[in-house]
Amino acid sequence: MARARNLPALVAHGGAGNAGPGKERPERRRGMMAAIRLGAGILRGNGSALEAVVATVAALEDHPLFNAGYGSLLNSEGNVEMDASVMYAEPVAVAASSGKRAHTHTADYSVSAGAVAAVSRVRNPIMLARAVMEHSPHILMAGPGAESFARKVGIRLVRPEEMVTERARERWRARKQQAGMLEAGAAARAAMGHGHGTVGAVAVDVNGAIAAATSTGGVPGKLFGRVGDSALIGAGTFAHAFGAASATGQGEAIILTALCREAVLALADATPQAVAREAIREMIDATGAEAGLILIDGRGRIGYAHNAASMQVARYDPAGGVQHLWLAPIATARRP
Ligand code: ASP
Repeated sequence: MARARNLPALVAHGGAGNAGPGKERPERRRGMMAAIRLGAGILRGNGSALEAVVATVAALEDHPLFNAGYGSLLNSEGNVEMDASVMYAEPVAVAASSGKRAHTHTADYSVSAGAVAAVSRVRNPIMLARAVMEHSPHILMAGPGAESFARKVGIRLVRPEEMVTERARERWRARKQQAGMLEAGAAARAAMGHGHGTVGAVAVDVNGAIAAATSTGGVPGKLFGRVGDSALIGAGTFAHAFGAASATGQGEAIILTALCREAVLALADATPQAVAREAIREMIDATGAEAGLILIDGRGRIGYAHNAASMQVARYDPAGGVQHLWLAPIATARRP
């Protein structure tokens, strides 16, 4: 069946949370624009949705003002522990000719996924997540095992200190002081939801393949060993024949509501914009937490919504070109 098409298309987010220092906003906007242009260039050159989302997210991981890769927030012990995941849905004819390992998810698409949790020694966790998808029999690898796998597939390991920016260290010190006498669990709970800067991207390419990618340093004040939604397929990242989603915000709430999978499945009956708004509303009703979501459907239509103080997105489609937006929250309270 022929679909109405607006392909290719790409949307990226730079995290939902507090607005961050005003003086950083122009540079964060520039970082988003550079990343989306990179991804858009890949799509315009008939590159794959997978290449586009990985390149977009990797560019944001390299930027020190985003909470992913270099620039990640520090955990309660003062160390970087990063999560990332990627998922790819290809029309079956493409999958068969590439010979890639994948299993059939619907009648005419195959899906594959890869993720890493709590890694400290790779510069671009999204590239390691992709390597897990393409070169291992697994979907999720964590910690030192994931890093040892990185070395085997030729991804260079760095010293954990090389991932720590002075800015992240200062914020960690300030938070420690603020937490004062609070015991660790209470301090972590009090701090959660006040960060921003997780990154993600979703895309559909000219061949109708669909991809999602997400990468984060996690929530501020998180305990050593905590893993959030960005490592979990279905929670922080999902792609499937209907479309793709990437989430940001309080990971615990995103996991509890399986936010990205629920949203992508809902694309069967509604537009991405309507689905994004309803998914965030349902998340608020269920958890009272803060989160944001970007969505794309198989036709290249885009949607996004959040209920935090601030969220930035950048988008590309053939009609609108490349654009950047600071999004206002759709709601702040539970529905009566
Ligand atoms: N969702 C991420 C996490 O919980 C954090 C964020 O998006 O700000 O690890």
